Order: sequence, then structure tokens, then C-alpha cells
Amino acid sequence: MRPGEVSLAHNGVLFLDEMPQFSRSTLQSLRQPIEDRKVHVVRAQGSFTFASDFMLVAAANPCPCGYLGDKAQNCRCLPHQIEQYQSRIGGPLIDRFDMFVAVPRPNPDHFFDKGDGGSKGGCRIESAELAKQVANARSFARSNGRLPVQSYSRQELCDPKLIEEKALKLLRKAAHSLKLSGRSIVGTLRLSRTIADLDTSFCVNASHLSEALSYRKTWSSHGGQS
Ligand SMILES: [Zn+2]
Repeated sequence: MRPGEVSLAHNGVLFLDEMPQFSRSTLQSLRQPIEDRKVHVVRAQGSFTFASDFMLVAAANPCPCGYLGDKAQNCRCLPHQIEQYQSRIGGPLIDRFDMFVAVPRPNPDHFFDKGDGGSKGGCRIESAELAKQVANARSFARSNGRLPVQSYSRQELCDPKLIEEKALKLLRKAAHSLKLSGRSIVGTLRLSRTIADLDTSFCVNASHLSEALSYRKTWSSHGGQS
């Protein structure tokens, strides 16, 4: 027995490029290792368990032609083609993503702007700077004796010492209006905790929670907005 991709990505990132091009069965088989952080395989030789604690990152075009929501090019797809393409991933797997980020076509001028890494007119952060911010956030969480955020239970995430009441009220309201699942609520709380750590804030406030909610859009909603 050899470990597969989800185990090779253990303690790292599993990146799926062009996610809708993967078969439905491959995508659905990711659900169990995402939840359990390990994968069970039963074969004639016996049953095996491999560790698979990974961060799932995926990229996808918004539609088959790739231009849905593009300001410069018109999408040539029919509505049912878009729906069929986007539904390949399936709601339960989409529900396991905590962040959706639209990546619009870059301004060509940014490519030619030398010396600033193309940051003019945007909010791009260089990788080295970003790595520093992540290291600071981790060290801040550790210095307060906190566990890695993915290990937090619902009770710990809602501990009044670690999250302001105003933030919880905001989440309750959003959970109703956005029809969030229990999994999405926990994911939003974890994300807001990470945002608070990046802000070196002991307590999650309404602003951290609101930022976490801004990433909580469905994949399809980005098509017309980016
Ligand atoms: Zn299209």
C-alpha cells in the first residue's frame, strides 16, 4: 500500500487546479479525509489508515469558457451550461470551503510597473511580507496558549473571553440571512479567529467576524461580481 495524494499532502496544502475537471467520485471522496484528517483504505491485504491533515485549495474558472463576470470579454456560455459546470463540485464539498476569492484579470500596467511588484493601484502584498504576518499571527496565538485554530471546538470558539458578544450577534444574524449550515458557522468562527490573530487581537470583534463573512459567498456568486 502506498499513500495517495491526500496523504502526501499531510501537514501541507492539497491544490486542485481546474477543480470542476475532476471526476465527481474523486471530488466526493475528499469529504471524509477533510472531516477526519485521515483516510481509511480497505483492500484484500487488510485495512489501512493514512494521515491526511491538509489544507484544501482549489482553483476554477467561473464557467466553461472562463469569461463569466469578465469586464473585457463576453461569456459565450448558455445558462444551463454554466449551471451544469458549477454543479460538478456539489454543495456538500462547496460547504467545506471557508473562503471564496474572485481573481479578476490583472491590469496589464501592473505587470510593467517595475520595482513595486505590481502593487500600484491594488492591495497586493509580497509573499515575504505575507509569510511574516502569518508567522506573527501564529506566534501571537501560541503566546496566549491557544491551540491551532482547526482544533477548536464550537464551545471554545464561542468562549466569551475570546469573542465579543457583538460579533456573535452579527454571526447569528448572518447565519439566518445567508442560511449558513452548522459547518459554515464553525468555519466562519475559525476564520474570524485567524483574522483576529493576524490583527494580534486577543478577542474576536465584529470587524474580524464581518471580514470572515465577506469570504463566505458561494462560488457561483462570484461569476457576476468580479
Ligand atoms: Zn462562459
